[in-house]
Amino acid sequence: MFFDMKNVLKRVYYLGQKSNRLLKYNLQLAYIFHTERIYEDEVFSKLTLFCKSYYELTGAKPICAVIPPTSLHIKNGLEDFGFSEDQFVERLHILSSLSTIGYHGHFYLKESLAEYNAIHCNNANASDISKQFTKDLNWFAKHQINHNGIYAAGWWFFNQTILDLLIKNGFEYDFSFSQAPYFYNQYSVKVMQDHDIDPGEPFLLKMPDNPSPITCIQNFIGLHNTPFPQDFNRNFEKLYEGKRVKPITIGVVNAHDYDLSYTHTLACIKHLMNHNKVQFHSFDSLKKVVGAIDLKTVNK
Ligand SMILES: [Zn+2]
Repeated sequence: MFFDMKNVLKRVYYLGQKSNRLLKYNLQLAYIFHTERIYEDEVFSKLTLFCKSYYELTGAKPICAVIPPTSLHIKNGLEDFGFSEDQFVERLHILSSLSTIGYHGHFYLKESLAEYNAIHCNNANASDISKQFTKDLNWFAKHQINHNGIYAAGWWFFNQTILDLLIKNGFEYDFSFSQAPYFYNQYSVKVMQDHDIDPGEPFLLKMPDNPSPITCIQNFIGLHNTPFPQDFNRNFEKLYEGKRVKPITIGVVNAHDYDLSYTHTLACIKHLMNHNKVQFHSFDSLKKVVGAIDLKTVNK
């Protein structure tokens, strides 16, 4: 009853608003999934169906950043669902044809799944991160799953150790930074504040001892799973309170595979394309858009 009332009020509230509020941003988007539960049949079938419909609608494939089962985050899920590693690999091969695969890292202290062992900025341990990172990458190589040099942080955790590992291992694109309060990370926020990076402004991040930078493309917000695409407009505009709007705005929207709303998300994408001329990109075409503009370099 409460939700019904809320929806009625929203409907009235949005009636008076223009649908093309985001037109001025010249918004260039890609869609990234934090892909965590494809061992569940229902999650996998909804995700693959969505990837196909998204491609039909936009001409672009989404990015699916996946956690290898060398991470406890997935290993236990496979065990719980009686799902074999071979079956998992088979699903990743199917997903590789429908999306661009990336690496989604979740790290634990001393390889222990207890919640208090989840690694965040305040308890990060370089040796535990490094061990897990190496195991994860070896798993991709062993099973011939290409992560395409794409990284997206689990729990939005990012720090100097992760940056160093990414650059040393030839990663070229990172999707871990965000200025949305729900995707907060203390390291990322400081980097962007110290260097005056706006939302929707990709930038190059590099280590002092290595000439190769990684290109950081920010996450805006989740793509909407409510019946109101206007919720997306409202939340997007919140990111820009007190910020500059550049001639071109580039970034990604995200969802987990398990909290995707097939119907509402596609409706939101249609709304953004029809009313706000938003361009949805595959990873390759996003790289071209980013490559055509001058980017700030941040040395860490
Ligand atoms: Zn995650």
